[in-house]
Formats: sequence, C-alpha cells, structure tokens
Amino acid sequence: MQSLDIEFQSPAAIRAFQEDLLRRQMAYLAEHSPFYRRLFAEHGIDPTQVRTLDDLTRLPFTEKEHLQRFNDDFICCDRADIIDYITTSGTTGESVTFACTDADLERLALNEAKSFAMAGVGRESIVQLMTTLDKRFMAGMAYFLGLRRLGAGIIRVGNGIPELQWETIRRIHPDTLMCVPSFILRLIQYAEEHNIDYRRCGVRRIIGIGEGLRDQDFRLNLLGSRIHEKWPEVQLFATYSSTEMGATFAECSEGCGGHVHPELIIVEIIGEDNRPVADGETGEVVVTTLGVEAMPLLRFRTGDMAKKCTERCTCGRHAYRLTPLIGRKHNMIKLKGTTLYPPAVNDVLDHADYVENYVVIVQDSAAGTDEVVVRIGLRKASPEAQRLLAAAPGHTPDLLIKDLKDRFRSRLRVAPLVEICPIDEIAHINFPAKSRKPVKFIDRRTHP
Ligand SMILES: [Zn+2]
Repeated sequence: MQSLDIEFQSPAAIRAFQEDLLRRQMAYLAEHSPFYRRLFAEHGIDPTQVRTLDDLTRLPFTEKEHLQRFNDDFICCDRADIIDYITTSGTTGESVTFACTDADLERLALNEAKSFAMAGVGRESIVQLMTTLDKRFMAGMAYFLGLRRLGAGIIRVGNGIPELQWETIRRIHPDTLMCVPSFILRLIQYAEEHNIDYRRCGVRRIIGIGEGLRDQDFRLNLLGSRIHEKWPEVQLFATYSSTEMGATFAECSEGCGGHVHPELIIVEIIGEDNRPVADGETGEVVVTTLGVEAMPLLRFRTGDMAKKCTERCTCGRHAYRLTPLIGRKHNMIKLKGTTLYPPAVNDVLDHADYVENYVVIVQDSAAGTDEVVVRIGLRKASPEAQRLLAAAPGHTPDLLIKDLKDRFRSRLRVAPLVEICPIDEIAHINFPAKSRKPVKFIDRRTHP
C-alpha cells in the first residue's frame, strides 16, 4: 500500500502529478478568486497557459501584505460554506483571517495524518497534545483531525501546566508528546523537582512544533541536544508548517529534513533576484497550495529561508525535503560581505558558557552597510570565564571579547562588535513588558 503513495514515486512522476494539480488550481482561481482574477487581468496572464512548474515561476508573488489589504478577496467560496475561522498575525500586527470549508478541514486531516504516520504514529499510539486547540489557531485542531483520521488515541491537554501534563502521562500512558520543544525542558525540570521517573514513563517520541531541533547538517541543535541528553529514550521529530501553507513538512525517522506532501503544496526556493535557486542552495520558501477550497494561494512568500534537498531519502521517499529554517528573510544581515541570519549568531552565543544573556543589534554603519553589535551580560563564575581569567588575571573582559570574536570567526567567518553590559540591563531589553517572546534581536536599519 505504502509503495503507491506519491511520496515514494519517481521525481518525474511527482512532477507530472503536481503539474496536473497546478492546472486544476489555475482553473479554480480563474473561476472563483476575486484577488487572482484581478491579478491575472492586471498582468495579462492567461491561466490556461500555466501548465508546468516552469510556467509557474513566471507568475507574480503573493505577499503577506496582500492578504492583509485584500483579505476578503482571497475567499473563493460562499460564506455559508465556511466551517472554521482562523486568524494569523500579519507583518504590521494587523490580523489576517483564514477560512476553511469542510473539504479544507479534510485536507488538513490528510496532511497531519500523513505527517504523524511519517513519525511512526498509528492506530495503537496515544498522543498527548500540548498545544492550544482554540484561540483561533489552526495547528491544534489540525493535529486532532489528523490523529482522528489515523485512528490514534488523543489527549487534548493544551499548552503549559507541567503538573497536569505529568498527571495525564501517569494516568493515560501516551507514547507520543506533541509540543513546543523548549517546553520539554520545563517538563523535565518539573519531573526532577518532583521525583517523577520521566525516563521510564513510556513516552517514546516527541514531535516538536514552532522551534527547530536540528542544525543545517541535520544533527541535533543545542535545544535538541539538551532534550536528548536528559531524555535519551525518546526520539525527536521536527516539523515546519504555517496557517498560510495549510501543510506540514515533517521528518521521517531518518531525521534529515521535512518531507513535502506533493498532493498538498508546491515549494519553490527563491533567491535574491526573485528567480528559483539551484537545489541545495539557500533561498526564500515560496509556496503554492494545492486542493484548497476557501483560500488557495499562488506563489506565497513565506519569508522563511531554507534549502531544498532533492536526493532520495533513506526512508525510500523521493518527495523532496526542506532543511531546518535558516532564518527570516527580512532579518538577513550582510556583514563584511557575508550573509548571516540571527539564529546563527544566537547559536554561537548560546554555546559560550560565560554569556549569561545577550541582545544582537543590527544598524546602518557610516558606510551604509550593516553593522552588528552584540551586547552580552557576563557570567563571570562560569568554568570558561574562570579558565580565561586564570590565564591572565586583570584582563578578563578583553580576553572574553577576544575569545567570543574568535568563536564567531570560526563559525561564521566574520565577527560582530562585542560589548559587555550589566546582566540586568540586557534582561530588561530581553523581556519588555508587552512582549510574550524574549527580544534577542533588534533591527535599527532604515530599510529602503
Ligand atoms: Zn525520509
């Protein structure tokens, strides 16, 4: 049965299959989408002439800003056919409404059923959902629908509350947890403080959302390694998805990138010249959704930077994979001719044990290029700091700055400016009153 799945067929078969769906998508948009009908007219596009993936690359992009400005014009169905309303945050803070028909909910169920199955979840599994199922989000509901389709057991605990999570694990014995990976560290800490033998609780896999677990070479990143060191019994799976895509890129047990589901989405990787890059090169993830009824999207710019891997995976799937995200396009930094993204800068800082906290500031230099200033709070009692201090007493700050700059040069080829600040001052910047996420990156550039 599995060999019939399109994901296991040849690249040529996958391409022909997607091009057939693309032609249907173009006809559907030409008939039902106010936004795309107008776009086709304005650009003199004949939708019947868009027949191949190469033809697709000649169409204009859809930007997030279009979704904000013309939200209702993206809806292709009658209001009465909409079942579920979802919102997602826009670039300028204003929300975008997403709508799902019954067929769209079935499509989401298929997407998540395939993604969970890829991680080995099946009828016998019990999955504890540590994600929000309401609050106008798509994800939690989609997981529920996908697991229901698989016939797996589902426990809807929702996010947070370690005590309730552990009580549920003890009571119902799930083998799979679905959550934001950093929450696992909190769960482990709670277990350690309350003498819970978490390593023998029966959980065998953790599927992560919202945060990466691997580096570009697919080895576990710092977060992934921390979880693995504490809890080696569980296998970690990373996923990448968004409301706009209505599709998930999920890892198989080989853990080497998120597989595309070819029946749901076409992915292009676009370079700075707005042309597709060669396979294996970094660019922006641009998606065309397939089979969506209420709000289909054509060449939607996600703003996420990744690479496409097209060689066959050791799991047997030919369906291409996406690498872990490299960063957000608008956060791209050009430092002394080298292209960087904040996550790579953070990674160097996260690995330096004498860095207590930090903030990365990018600003225009006098020469009109990007200038990066890293402000760090020092943990002087750390073993590394002590070692460097012992080597040359009296010069600690200078030596630590030099050490950090060397680390930047060896990992990123360039080093930013480094300034030492009081820990309190950095903490104040990291956790402003209104923000729910810690602020570690400040962009002061005056973008053109
Ligand atoms: Zn695979």
